[in-house]
Amino acid sequence: MKLEAMIWDVDGTLVNSEELHRFAFNRAFKEFALDWRWSRRTYRKLLDVTGGKERIRFYVKLSSMSEGCLAIPLEELHARKTEIFHDRIQNGDLALRRGVKTVLDQALNNGFRLAIATTTTLSNVETLFESGVLSSWQWEVVVAGDQVERKKPAPDVYLEALRRLNLSPKRCIAVEDSENGLMSALAAEIPTIITTNAYTRYQNFDGAVAVLEDLGETTKMLGVGHFEAWHAAALALVP
Ligand SMILES: [Mg+2]
Repeated sequence: MKLEAMIWDVDGTLVNSEELHRFAFNRAFKEFALDWRWSRRTYRKLLDVTGGKERIRFYVKLSSMSEGCLAIPLEELHARKTEIFHDRIQNGDLALRRGVKTVLDQALNNGFRLAIATTTTLSNVETLFESGVLSSWQWEVVVAGDQVERKKPAPDVYLEALRRLNLSPKRCIAVEDSENGLMSALAAEIPTIITTNAYTRYQNFDGAVAVLEDLGETTKMLGVGHFEAWHAAALALVP
């Protein structure tokens, strides 16, 4: 079965946005006079929880606080974090990960369809388009975390992307950076490759077709042909 579409995760996969998210959380906490500061180490643990609001809620619980004790509603705190995050993207503080541009260019030249399946909110993805980071390519389908019921590791975003693409999972390949993302794509039966980053390097990627540091070196020689080879290898493993 031929590969027809590539479905991409956003945070940590298309862009190394986790550090910018962490910065925006910390800035928002400071503005609201909260003495919280999420270090890289803390944030690595918090990344197990997908979704920004859910992440703050988890931290509150972890710190044995009750949400009612917060002087401001959690939604307001998260909204300010999102605003800070958007401002920085508009400033041009976020770029594509190494090798991604080449793969996307070649994918479109080879007639592949492109889709996004992310747990982040739609407004975060829209800001990436507005700032020009993702706007050079035609993305046929964009599914965000707030458009489905359950976030990753549930398969909802991927199932919705497949529905909108009107494709069988066997005609797609997913690109992810995290264990939660991998579980989500595999639960939707989509062959998946992983590009790790500092936050996800030591996670469990059993079931992935390939695990890479990034798409830079790997795609230099074979380019998007790698994806076709990975896809064929994944399909050969399933009946
Ligand atoms: Mg990710």
